[in-house]
Amino acid sequence: MSAVCTVIGLLAIYLSSSDVSAVELFRLRLPAHVEILQGEIVELKVFGEDLSAVEGRRGKETIHFYPSRPASFSAIVGADLEAKPGVSKITIKATNQAGVYREAEVILKTVAKSFRQESFTVAEAFDQLSPETLERIRRDRADFGLAFSTTWAPLWEAPFIRPVSQEFSSSFGYRRIINGTPRAPHSGADLRSPIGTEVRAANHGRVVLLGDYFFAGKSVVLNHGGGLYTTYFHLSEFKVEAGAMVRRGDVIALSGMSGRVTGPHLHWGARLGSARVDPFELIHKLSMGQSKDIRELNRALSETEQ
Ligand SMILES: [Zn+2]
Repeated sequence: MSAVCTVIGLLAIYLSSSDVSAVELFRLRLPAHVEILQGEIVELKVFGEDLSAVEGRRGKETIHFYPSRPASFSAIVGADLEAKPGVSKITIKATNQAGVYREAEVILKTVAKSFRQESFTVAEAFDQLSPETLERIRRDRADFGLAFSTTWAPLWEAPFIRPVSQEFSSSFGYRRIINGTPRAPHSGADLRSPIGTEVRAANHGRVVLLGDYFFAGKSVVLNHGGGLYTTYFHLSEFKVEAGAMVRRGDVIALSGMSGRVTGPHLHWGARLGSARVDPFELIHKLSMGQSKDIRELNRALSETEQ
């Protein structure tokens, strides 16, 4: 992730009152441009005096802002690992305690990242899926789609933790070309966990999916609020029930090798809205409460104010 730039992105001002002279405009500080690599996240911060609410939109997607200190609102923005490189726009609507309303824009530049890629061949029989299996996969996808459609206010708080202590066997974003055909890129990080390793919740959240699936095997999805989810696949045993609220560090399952895998490991994934992002981004960028990017942004913002 490369950082954030400086200036003020205030493009439009709307007043909530028709009596313009009675309304005191308030100052709003936010980055004009944010750059983000495929599969990564960036924390976006909006500063203003007496802010009472901030909302963000990117296309049809809601960007969830939450109050942060001092006198600011923050949101995490993610780029899907297959997001098309290019420029898009985040529209921000800010209201202060006097009911004055301002609108601003942040230009979001998505930049391609190079992921490891490998080609290999497997026996055709291993690669063929029966119509019954394809139907099951369709149902599995519907379950995941439903789990990712629920949303509420953020439950998480920094820092995020890793669910197991083991290292990678396969990293996020890895591209596979099997029998000459590109497959879906790897949407999580595989951690070398022996069967029966305790798997811990990366943060506070609610269990919004718990089941056994064709590819993912026994799976848990946690909804951390604010559009943020973490996923845990190929488990051997559940230690929570669907709908349960969990706290960071709670044991939610034991790792295993269920689903379509060649050996035991934990597949750990993260999702922000519709973007599949590297789960280690949550640890690295949200661990200190203030990421490096945000510290840089804050320094830049202290010099440019409107
Ligand atoms: Zn995996």
